[in-house]
Amino acid sequence: MNAAAQQPAGAPVFEQLGLIGCGLMGGSFALALKRAGLVKRVVGYSKSPSTTERARAMGVIDVEAPSALLAVSGADIVLLAVPVAATEATLKTIRHLVTPQTLVMDVGSTKRDVVDAARRVLREQIGCFVPAHPIAGKELSGVEHADADLYAGKQVILTPLERTYTAHIQKAAAVWSALGCHVAKMSPEAHDAAFAAVSHLPHLLAFALMNGITSQPSGRDFLSLAGPGFRDFSRIAAADPEMWRDVLLANREELLEQSKLFQRALKALEATIEAGNAQALELLIEQASEARANWRMTSHKPAH
Ligand code: NAP
Repeated sequence: MNAAAQQPAGAPVFEQLGLIGCGLMGGSFALALKRAGLVKRVVGYSKSPSTTERARAMGVIDVEAPSALLAVSGADIVLLAVPVAATEATLKTIRHLVTPQTLVMDVGSTKRDVVDAARRVLREQIGCFVPAHPIAGKELSGVEHADADLYAGKQVILTPLERTYTAHIQKAAAVWSALGCHVAKMSPEAHDAAFAAVSHLPHLLAFALMNGITSQPSGRDFLSLAGPGFRDFSRIAAADPEMWRDVLLANREELLEQSKLFQRALKALEATIEAGNAQALELLIEQASEARANWRMTSHKPAH
């Protein structure tokens, strides 16, 4: 591939991506960056050597690093794509090789815990860190599902800290834009409050729904009868347990708050059913139906 010919106008070109966590998100980022001609070399590290090896065999990375620190050695861009609970330990491992010129990003689904970890660990290099959350993904984890198109047309949220270098924020925004993302900025707190409602709670409910059904003696038989509505509602229950364990625990306060609000809404619906109050029930369904009909995902907006 002629890298120079593919570069999107105005996007920075990096010498080396140090990729830590060669899974779905990290692998997709590396593939997209390579395809756009925005990086000359990708050096990757993952917890299991077999993952790193597979990533190299697939052409996701060019060089296997035996440690996170060695993946970062010589890198001008670093992406952490590990479960959020591994962020702090990973930053500790690499901090000695982070220079003011290194752009360090993550892709974690929660931001307050990630930012707190970065503050504790990176100290004087904190300006290099641009926390990012691409609103993209799949239920299928692992490098074998990495996809150069994963981020195209999706939203990415940056939650810079007060000390993040402006030049690094601009560079991060340019990289994600070059991959076809709509870039938004907000505080880590606002991010976690919003995603507790629209991502973490729906996952919690999908997990509870599956467990509630399968815990019944006839649950498996019921599942065999389920149709497209059930398929759509339950899709996210097939998500990666390790990743979601970390996310739900990391954002527990906001999530439990949303769970309480949900239970209140559920009780309101149940009360109308118990009372046989058809009019009130219809009104509540109408409210939900209208809200859903008027909802449009940001990634459905045309790219600009
Ligand atoms: P994944 O496919 O399981 O990839 C995670 C990778 O991190 C694996 O290669 C794993 O290595 C590696 N890893 C785990 N602990 C590590 C450590 N301590 N040091 C180095 N590597 C380590 O998961 P993913 O879906 O890409 O998720 C990565 C991040 O993206 C998470 O923080 C998640 O919150 C965020 N995210 C995910 C989605 C989504 O839909 N999947 C969406 C938005 C954001 P092994 O293969 O050796 O275990």
